[in-house]
Amino acid sequence: MQAIIVGSGAGGATVAKELSNKGVDVVLIEKGPAIDAKDASKYYSNIDSEVKILRTFCLGGTTTVSAGNGVRALEKELRGLGIDLSDEFEDAERELVVRTLPDSHFGEGTKRIMVAAENLGFDVKKMPKFIDPAKCTPCGKCASGCPNDAKWSALEFVKAAEKNGAKILTDMPVDDIIVEDGEVAGVRSKDKVISADIVVLSAGALETPRLLKKQGLPTTPHIMFVDTFTTIGGALEGIKLNKEVTMNALITFEDFILSPHFSNQLVKRMEARGVKVSSEDVLGIMVKIKDEEVGEVDGDVKKVVTNRDAVLLSEGATIAGSILKKAGADPSTFVSTPVRGAHPGGTARIGEAVDKNLATEVDGLYVADASVLPASPGAPPILTIVALAKYVSKIILTRS
Ligand SMILES: Cc1cc2nc3c(=O)[nH]c(=O)nc-3n(C[C@H](O)[C@H](O)[C@H](O)COP(=O)(O)OP(=O)(O)OC[C@H]3O[C@@H](n4cnc5c(N)ncnc54)[C@H](O)[C@@H]3O)c2cc1C
Repeated sequence: MQAIIVGSGAGGATVAKELSNKGVDVVLIEKGPAIDAKDASKYYSNIDSEVKILRTFCLGGTTTVSAGNGVRALEKELRGLGIDLSDEFEDAERELVVRTLPDSHFGEGTKRIMVAAENLGFDVKKMPKFIDPAKCTPCGKCASGCPNDAKWSALEFVKAAEKNGAKILTDMPVDDIIVEDGEVAGVRSKDKVISADIVVLSAGALETPRLLKKQGLPTTPHIMFVDTFTTIGGALEGIKLNKEVTMNALITFEDFILSPHFSNQLVKRMEARGVKVSSEDVLGIMVKIKDEEVGEVDGDVKKVVTNRDAVLLSEGATIAGSILKKAGADPSTFVSTPVRGAHPGGTARIGEAVDKNLATEVDGLYVADASVLPASPGAPPILTIVALAKYVSKIILTRS
């Protein structure tokens, strides 16, 4: 069996590793360049829209800039669709070594937020991470690319696939899928054609639907969620949250989560209001919601804040403000960042664009990335995408 995997992020790298591990002849094709994890921030390829959408184009995909948060999401929803990922989640947690970090990796800013939230009666937990504490020297650079390779990224699975014999092609955007008599036959990148009997699309939730649409295959182009977020922050001299492990704690509500988070945007917004602070003097909390699935990937990518999203963001911001105040930040300096989204998904959903085997209408053509997610996770999705990619790999392997 010959398989082409398009895209090397959370979904694609996992499928490449799983299939090559069982002797499948794998070619992993990546639009972006091969990189060192520490340089990942250079490869952001964000989309400007009412809600700005963040992603990266490089080997390892958007996992290279993740905060290292590893939680199970959408388990119930997927089970409702007939997909039980219990074994795959367990495997993913073991391979990514998901755990909470020791107290030595909690800085003063996070600790203050945790204590303040507890005192206000909220249930605060340490965030499960795929970060190796032995290698992590907290520096606040998770979302720029880890300088110590302490955080798991899909680059590890790409390396494992390569070791298994997979061919890795970088700087090669796939432009089209080739279909012959209802069966997939390969892909085309510029004037180059590569043949295979299996093609797995893992180009991410904004690119995979474009490739499907070119073939006239169903997508869900007016559906997109991104887990819209904003960060609320205030001045607290010398707190140095910017040098801590980002998002190291978690407070879960029904439709949103709160997590300690520094953003340079907070400094800029405070400066614009005449508050003099340096990056070391800001305490912040991210409010991340389960947004409504209203968005567009047909033509220009568009994501808006609906009325319901606005209500959830302000509910979360109110609670975040009360925690920040209790933690010692100056309420007269409070600002919020623009709204952004880092978890685009749902654009080729299970049940609409693909079946419960993540198979399209074309024989041999599968999807394994955030496109297939059935609903807004409102939580970090990497572990779920990795689990789904393991699940579809098992299905593909039954074909041989
Ligand atoms: C700043 C930030 C922090 C985050 N932190 C976390 C976190 O802590 N935990 C968590 O669970 N999630 C986190 N996420 C979200 C997570 O990174 C993504 O949800 C996940 O990586 C999506 O996986 P994917 O396989 O769908 O796409 P991606 O990982 O984006 O991979 C898609 C790949 O396809 C490639 N590609 C695109 N088009 C083509 C083409 N035509 N041909 C070939 N290749 C192509 C891209 O270059 C990319 O490498 C974060 C995201 C951001 C932006």
